[in-house]
Amino acid sequence: MSTGGASGRRRGVKPALAALAAAYPDARTALDFSTPWQLLVATVLSAQCTDQRVNIITARLFGECPDAVAMARLSVEDLEARIFDCGLYHAKARHLAATSRTVAARWGAELPAAITREELEALPGVGRKTASVVLANAYGVPALAVDTHVFRVAHRLGWSAAKDANHTADDLCHLIPRRQWAAAHHWLIRHGRKICHARRPACGQCVVARWCPRIGVDEPAAAGGGRRAAGRPRRAAPVPPGVPAG
Ligand code: SF4
Repeated sequence: MSTGGASGRRRGVKPALAALAAAYPDARTALDFSTPWQLLVATVLSAQCTDQRVNIITARLFGECPDAVAMARLSVEDLEARIFDCGLYHAKARHLAATSRTVAARWGAELPAAITREELEALPGVGRKTASVVLANAYGVPALAVDTHVFRVAHRLGWSAAKDANHTADDLCHLIPRRQWAAAHHWLIRHGRKICHARRPACGQCVVARWCPRIGVDEPAAAGGGRRAAGRPRRAAPVPPGVPAG
């Protein structure tokens, strides 16, 4: 760990979070939804698909089947036909068919007014990231979801060296105050999409550059070489195994 362990990682986190909060004051989920069930569906669909594409798909899907009971009436093939323009749509249709039947049988049309992480993660196709997104954005329960953007920015900032999304989420939850978990998720996603790109991070425009041990390291030489130290090997942005796309 380049920043010297847990105490090193903690250094700079508080001011960096304040800078991100100031830079992205309106950061929130870009997925359209009216109910917790709809957010769960949209989040399942969002893996390896843009939020804009998911919103197009859910606009027509929820128009026809807005709740779990209505969706449970559809076969896997019916669902595939309605989400065909989404990446991984075969697997997602299978998961949504199974999940809608489970939810409809257990709770009815909607998810209950209060739900636990364990109950969410027991649903087909719902992992820790999806459960965290639903808990934080539909239930107001503190949770920090790690997608590919959060993973990349957190690693560049030295806030985690974990190899997978779940352990990265554990590291971030230790570093970031609980009351900021949900917001930090949105700040890091927004920063990853807008500034700290996978291939060409715009370190010169970065509000957290002063706390980043990788400032300039991943900037392309063609763009001026950034502030990469002479002779320092360029490393690609971390590519996590099994990290959900944002
Ligand atoms: S300084 Fe560069 S690498 Fe570090 S967080 Fe900012 S954009 Fe990303």
